[in-house]
Amino acid sequence: MSATDPASSPDPATVAARAGCAPEFTTKSSSPPVYLTTAFDLESLEQLEAVTGGGQKGYIYTRDGNPNHDAFTNDVATLEHAEAGAVMASGMGALTAILMAMVKSGDHVIAARVLYGRTGQLLDHLATNFGLKVSYFDVDDLSALKAALIPETRLCIVESISNPLLEVADLPAIVDVLQGIPLLVDSTFATPCLLRPIDHGATLVWHSVSKYLNGHGDVMAGIVVGPTNLIRKIRAMSSLYGVNANPFESWLASRGLRTLPLRMQRVSQTATEIAAFLQSHPHVSRVFYPGLTDHAHFDRARRLLPHGCGGMLAFDLPGGRPAVDMLFRRLADVIPFSPTLADARTTVSYPAGTSHKFMTAAARAACGIGDGLVRLSIGLEDASDLKRELAAALAHTPM
Ligand SMILES: *Cc1c(COP(=O)(O)O)cnc(C)c1O
Repeated sequence: MSATDPASSPDPATVAARAGCAPEFTTKSSSPPVYLTTAFDLESLEQLEAVTGGGQKGYIYTRDGNPNHDAFTNDVATLEHAEAGAVMASGMGALTAILMAMVKSGDHVIAARVLYGRTGQLLDHLATNFGLKVSYFDVDDLSALKAALIPETRLCIVESISNPLLEVADLPAIVDVLQGIPLLVDSTFATPCLLRPIDHGATLVWHSVSKYLNGHGDVMAGIVVGPTNLIRKIRAMSSLYGVNANPFESWLASRGLRTLPLRMQRVSQTATEIAAFLQSHPHVSRVFYPGLTDHAHFDRARRLLPHGCGGMLAFDLPGGRPAVDMLFRRLADVIPFSPTLADARTTVSYPAGTSHKFMTAAARAACGIGDGLVRLSIGLEDASDLKRELAAALAHTPM
């Protein structure tokens, strides 16, 4: 295929660079407008019927749809090789709408044991209060997955790269075991620049847009992409439960998306360098990064993540919680302790006290999340500067 072949699909960098500029924005402003409007005026009852019936493209009420939402979701769907998408107020808002569309009381959901803390908390809440059956499996134990499937199983949930130990799920093998049961992949850490779960057989892909897709630490949003029929149901639930996004957040997310491919390439390179640096540091007992040969999923990462393993890594300090506290105080002016990730700046976090504090200490230990575990979200700074800053702070932690 040549670059001039009109049938050739554009490179992700091209799709991303033009994000947010939908053809129906006809005023030709160089940057797309923000449709900060609650509703859209209608010409006639006939038009109302045509738009609500789906026969004519148009908008009625921003909770149900808005041009800025469509511009963002269409671009992410293109990047993920999905048919359609829906954007919500947060990653958790997206998960809420997905679950309301996919399951009812008495149904069964099977999820990976290591998940973003709030994901597990939401599933447990639905189990306790609304009669959902929930079970968990170790992503490497596919015979346990197979054994856990029951006739009521409606959904399987995994993270493509898990938080915080960077486990890589073997998506094709999981899809194989599921035999048609829908697989929902939280691909927040991987982004479509590193992995496209739908190409490996996943049904729905979900992201916290608050992280890499936006990438500048100034948006709260979530997105789900997948087949048109399912997305239509999920959109209906988003509207019903009121977890819809705000047009300005979608506009900002489109702006962030334009640099996603560059940012993912950069953070993957820097994280590889920092992982090697930390691994050889005498004050660090263990480093978790799928690009390191000693990571349990190194071979799988080479197969599924050929373009890089992303910007997240974790490491253990043998001195436990006091050592972590000392490190964070020393780093504060340069690498802040911030309970988020995927900002343009490098940040550190403490899974045992933030994303996973809702688990019991025993459950955390069973997942390998110890008291000395630090999570590092690599940003866009120069790698040598980061190494110098980390070395200076680590010098004060016990060996
Ligand atoms: C942050 C995060 C979420 C939740 O998204 P919000 O936008 O904070 O609601 C879900 N999954 C992962 C992996 C995350 O990092």
